[in-house]
Amino acid sequence: MNAPLAADAIALAPPADAAPSLSVVIPIYNEEDNLHDLVTRVHDAIAPTGRTFELICVDDGSRDRSAALLAALATERAWLRPVYLIRNYGQSTALQAGFDVARGDVVATLDGDLQNDPADVPKLVAMLEAEPAIDAISGWRKDRQDAQWSRKVPSRIANGLISRVTGVKLHDYGCALKVYRARVIHDLRLYGELHRFIPALAAEVGAKIVEVPVQHHARTRGVSKYGIDRTFRVLLDLLWIKFLLRFLHRPIHAFGGVGLGLGSTGFVILAWLAIDKLAFGHPIGGRPLLLFGVLLVLIGVQLVATGVLGEMLTRIYHEPQGRPQYQTRREPRPLPGPAARAD
Ligand code: UDP
Ligand code: MG
Repeated sequence: MNAPLAADAIALAPPADAAPSLSVVIPIYNEEDNLHDLVTRVHDAIAPTGRTFELICVDDGSRDRSAALLAALATERAWLRPVYLIRNYGQSTALQAGFDVARGDVVATLDGDLQNDPADVPKLVAMLEAEPAIDAISGWRKDRQDAQWSRKVPSRIANGLISRVTGVKLHDYGCALKVYRARVIHDLRLYGELHRFIPALAAEVGAKIVEVPVQHHARTRGVSKYGIDRTFRVLLDLLWIKFLLRFLHRPIHAFGGVGLGLGSTGFVILAWLAIDKLAFGHPIGGRPLLLFGVLLVLIGVQLVATGVLGEMLTRIYHEPQGRPQYQTRREPRPLPGPAARAD
């Protein structure tokens, strides 16, 4: 407490490469016309808050000058940390690459096309820090500036479906603007196009997520990287997420359940045909029901076998890498509301 002044001064001076308190992660694919404004606006939004931050721009194998521009911008800005992926992996993997190097206690993400407003980042960060019971805040583009039929309508349907299937009720899964406590992102593994399901995946690792309306602007430069075909990919991803959330740890229940149902129906059909033949002497060789029964038994056996294989894979997934099938908290989750903050 009464340490000499000089020692205090040394203790207070942060080392040159101290971890920043906030990491902003932005995936970049062919955004050369947006980069300069993006970097400037993120800086101008966060610098006045006085907090230390890093801006991690992940170049996702851009075919334009984005990577070179990032390198040039980074030479004059110590807080700008570019990551260059060797090829285009997609938005989710780009985000994951950013998360892997993010050092902040709080991590924010947004799109690189300035459709999200960097000015919203400090607001969401302040909200997150004011409420210990919340682990992540997801932006909600309440007044979304995108095409009605090719974007907003499919997105509304997708949001309804995803909320229903995953049980994490949000209006806007697709909003890239989000802030997280670092713990949450370090527990996620993103690939493919799973970034749209981050809230559900985060809830799976125990995070409490809320939604806050944010600004949204039309794209003014560059082009969107997605077409209407993404709607179908979202549906397939949704199937996978549903499976992941419910059956990852017990695949035999998913496959085995259906397999047992079909197989036992087939068995009953075949037993009935056998009785018909043996007890009543009716020929059964030409009956379509025979084929149906055999088919059901075969499919049933296949599905049960798939379930057994799935169980083996689950073991391989967990055991050799010592990956536990559960995660624990370091401390109990704080209670929400003022009571939690009083002490
Ligand atoms: N993006 C990326 N890799 C890709 C596609 C997109 O890093 O393969 C980035 C893109 O540069 C942008 C963000 O992901 O920063 C969202 O993309 P876009 O604006 O095209 O999506 P939309 O707003 O049309 O849904
Ligand atoms: Mg966009």
